[in-house]
Amino acid sequence: MTPRLRARPLERLADADPAWVDSSGGRRGVMLQFECPIHESDAHGDTCRIAVPLDPPLDGGAPIERGWRRSGGEDFDSVTLAPSIRRLGESDGTGCRWHGFVRGGRFETCGDSR
Ligand SMILES: [Zn+2]
Repeated sequence: MTPRLRARPLERLADADPAWVDSSGGRRGVMLQFECPIHESDAHGDTCRIAVPLDPPLDGGAPIERGWRRSGGEDFDSVTLAPSIRRLGESDGTGCRWHGFVRGGRFETCGDSR
């Protein structure tokens, strides 16, 4: 199934139903989850969501896995992640291939996204 594109890409992280994700071990804000800026649904017909591990997590401790460098605070409009996020899609070539940045709480989608 081909992911369905949004009529208009999302511009703000805050509009993408974002959530800080805690770990089962009690760590706070180890990941950031949000809806894909360009897809309404993914290859399975579900909401296309993206989750990235953070370095540092919100609790300021060590990352739980290699993550995106996070700057800014808990306010979603302040979040910057580096480097860019590139989704690889499914092995059959379908699926989400959004590629872009989160800078100052805004999405910057790169031209090779599909
Ligand atoms: Zn997507």
